[in-house]
Amino acid sequence: MHEILVTGGAGFIGSHFVRRILRRDDVSRVTVLDALTYAGHTENLGTAFLDARLTFVQGSILDGRLVDELMARHTAVVHFAAESHVDRSLTTADTFLTTNVLGTQTLAASAGRNGIEKFVHASTDEVYGSLRDGSASEDDLVRPSVPYAASKAASDLVALSHFQTYGLPVCVTRSSNNYGPHQFPEKIIPLFTTRLLRGEKVTLHGQGQHVRNWLHVEDNCEGVELVLREGQPGEIYNLGGGTDLTGRDLTAKLLALCGKDWDWVTYIPDRQANDLRYSMLWDKIAALGFRPTRDLDEGLADTVDWYRRNPDRWAPLTRNPYAAHAPHALVAAGVEARVR
Ligand code: NAD
Repeated sequence: MHEILVTGGAGFIGSHFVRRILRRDDVSRVTVLDALTYAGHTENLGTAFLDARLTFVQGSILDGRLVDELMARHTAVVHFAAESHVDRSLTTADTFLTTNVLGTQTLAASAGRNGIEKFVHASTDEVYGSLRDGSASEDDLVRPSVPYAASKAASDLVALSHFQTYGLPVCVTRSSNNYGPHQFPEKIIPLFTTRLLRGEKVTLHGQGQHVRNWLHVEDNCEGVELVLREGQPGEIYNLGGGTDLTGRDLTAKLLALCGKDWDWVTYIPDRQANDLRYSMLWDKIAALGFRPTRDLDEGLADTVDWYRRNPDRWAPLTRNPYAAHAPHALVAAGVEARVR
């Protein structure tokens, strides 16, 4: 029986993962440890709370005592908790380094002390940096461009060092950009969707030329579960296999789904260090049986439909004047800030 500690389980990907893992009969306990920053919402877990195997703990992965206490009651860790939004990292890199690097160190050290049997650290294709051509394999060097990617690359290395030094059974997953329901409306798909649904214009960086690989969140979670069950300790697994799209092509799809045209788009100067293209080889996870199955057009239509049907879940967040610019005030202010 697996007893799984999921960090960041009230966030976008973590909450999908929790619902998935609770469908398994060989899982006897799932504990979510989440600080409920601006990005974390217990509502994301929804009906998962009906399952008696789920416990939710509001707290930080930086709190060593709490982490030790929880770790002792689990056999595996799936670590999603992070500061995850690139744009925010351009102005508040220190918080990204603290949460992502020191938080991972706190968890991994505690996992070692408590005999954890598998520690899966969720990371990103952004650690490989911008690729003009070709695709990154797990053996390639990390070349992060922005503070977010640097903090994730550093946290990957910290996690893996616990395998090399102490033999902690760590696996790292590096996935493409995820999309799907429940994503905080700051990342491009929910941001553009919620703006268009509210009748507001969207802004595209540069000429929308940047290429990203889009993977449905359920496909990513499937890969993470596979790595949890079958991944080799000490290994990195790229979770690619989504659909490559430029920002412009993605915008065209969202405009069509929201019934809008290009008059709803304004162009703004490109962001600092906006990587032109990410691309990964993913044959290593494919060898374990991983095959993304969600079609992008269907997945995007379902996602837009979810935002259309659930304005109560995102409209209050988009009206929060602090959400866009002062994330770390929100960490301190917690719930009070979220209900503004
Ligand atoms: P998210 O921002 O939606 O969720 C992050 C969660 O972590 C939130 O619930 C937040 O409250 C929690 N958290 C933040 N600081 C914490 C702390 N100190 N202690 C405990 N909890 C804390 O992020 P996401 O998009 O769900 O991403 C999850 C993970 O996957 C991250 O590690 C991210 O780097 C990685 N990832 C994301 C994507 C993507 O496209 N979203 C792609 C590849 C990798």
